[in-house]
Amino acid sequence: MLKIGGHVSTSGGLSNAIKEAKRIGANTIQIFGASPVRWSALLPDPEASLQFIDECKKNDINPVFLHAPYLINLASPKGNMPRISEALLERHLEIANAVGAFGVIFHIGSRGDRPQKEAEEIVVKELSDILGRVKTGRLIIENSAGAGNLVGDSLDEIGRIIKAVDNERLGFCLDTAHSFEAGIFPDFSKKGVDDFKNQIDNHIGIKKLWAIHLNDSKTPAGSNKDRHENIGMGLIGKNGFSNFLNHPIFKKIPLILEVPGYENDGPDKKNIETVRKLIGK
Ligand SMILES: [Zn+2]
Repeated sequence: MLKIGGHVSTSGGLSNAIKEAKRIGANTIQIFGASPVRWSALLPDPEASLQFIDECKKNDINPVFLHAPYLINLASPKGNMPRISEALLERHLEIANAVGAFGVIFHIGSRGDRPQKEAEEIVVKELSDILGRVKTGRLIIENSAGAGNLVGDSLDEIGRIIKAVDNERLGFCLDTAHSFEAGIFPDFSKKGVDDFKNQIDNHIGIKKLWAIHLNDSKTPAGSNKDRHENIGMGLIGKNGFSNFLNHPIFKKIPLILEVPGYENDGPDKKNIETVRKLIGK
């Protein structure tokens, strides 16, 4: 069954995410577990969490993903930044478990002037430590658009980290816009899509692909500029998404939209319908 949805708001409480999911016709969602721009995060109210889990079940909304705060920078060369980033990611894994989410999607961050190898070693240790302390739930590395020494803009980087951590609860989220913008997935022809699938398989392993952030891009391939666009309206385009969405592997992965929306209020029904039309479902 096609799993398609988007990032939805929890402002006003977790129950609002369900309302939003139903409004846009989503059967999978991504939410923030707490403020995306604050260093502190409380565990959600247990009663509200159980109600949320129940409502997701009743409405066939599954899986649910958490998106970690943008503040997190596990690779940072600055002072206590890696330590507080690790603590915040750990807290969000606990929140994910509390609300019955499949896992937490996060960006590794920027290594600044830290050497690449050292940055990867630190990230591997942080992720191993978190997964060692929190015994359930998954961490999911999202690829980045590539500006400013970001770690995780290439498949081999992410693959090396995932292999070194070697934990069945660590996986990969592919963002189509970021991979286009980073220049690692410039060609959305049928052949280009299949080649890219093979690259994921070679570097990371296709079984580790647990989520797809489905976004078109306002900026060209290789621009390193992260600007999302509605599906089919950007430089990946309708044909590109048709090739991508009809690939036998990619269409089986939960698809989460993080698009601006036609009313500029985020993922909407029209984008979801566009995806369904492109798949013919
Ligand atoms: Zn994304």
